[in-house]
Amino acid sequence: MENCIGRFAPTPSGRMHLGNVFAAMLAWLSVRSKGGSMVLRMEDLDTQRTKTEYADVLRDDLLWLGLDWDVETAPQSQRSHVYDRYFRLLEEKGLLYPCYCTRSQLHNVNAPHLSDGTYVYPGTCRSLTAEKKAAFTRAPAWRVTVPQRKWQVEDLVQGHYEEDLATDCGDFVVRRADGVYVYQLAVTVDDGEAGVTEVVRGMDLLSSAPRQMYLQSLFGFHHPQYAHVPMLLAPDGRRLSKRDGDLDMGALRARMTPEQLLGYLAHAAGLLPHPEAVSAKELATGFSWQNVRKDDVCISADMLQA
Ligand SMILES: [Zn+2]
Repeated sequence: MENCIGRFAPTPSGRMHLGNVFAAMLAWLSVRSKGGSMVLRMEDLDTQRTKTEYADVLRDDLLWLGLDWDVETAPQSQRSHVYDRYFRLLEEKGLLYPCYCTRSQLHNVNAPHLSDGTYVYPGTCRSLTAEKKAAFTRAPAWRVTVPQRKWQVEDLVQGHYEEDLATDCGDFVVRRADGVYVYQLAVTVDDGEAGVTEVVRGMDLLSSAPRQMYLQSLFGFHHPQYAHVPMLLAPDGRRLSKRDGDLDMGALRARMTPEQLLGYLAHAAGLLPHPEAVSAKELATGFSWQNVRKDDVCISADMLQA
């Protein structure tokens, strides 16, 4: 049987909040319950927001929770030379073209479409003449051409999800005008090279899966199994974010044991009838995706109070 390889892919831009811990816990439980291994990688493409000190704290917080990993791969900020190779592969296949559209041009043409706010790109720059390209003074972003076909995701939590990239997304950017590779390309390359077989992450990234599956097929990687887990909501319905300092790991560690926190989250996920204290190892015994709820989870008001 194929060995299961999962991953943690946190962004070191601050302390993990309750929602990040929720997804990390489920990723770990799924892989460890099958005797698989975990890969850790820091997603620090946005070097303006990320810091190595945050990465140190993230590792410490994961270990405090009992969520360990077997190998840490190089952070994304150190891998542009690797992403270059895959970019050239797309270029050799004749699938890339420069896009000179400004942000306001893109936003004016279309209404937001995908749940992550991606706009459907109408292909404005797909067939620019060499003369037209030469007339632009600014550097272009680079888009990959998408074929008209349906991409099917059989998600372990959300069930069937499908998208036709041509109509639901359009040709998408793989490298920004400033030369930075976008999340979609970096994640596909990192997961593919690490041999990741299972991707567990927040529901807000479900609409990214078809773009990543398309890139996986172009780069020659297997499609991983996806599990997009519910988002955690505050009692007033807003999504938790790193701005909710009252729910970050610093505050949580000050008032709870790891077992209390995991028990609370396991109960929220549908894995325990009551929020009783439990270790990660105990939860891994008998873990099944069938017990994980798929709808958003509203956290209790007392959890928010420090
Ligand atoms: Zn364009």
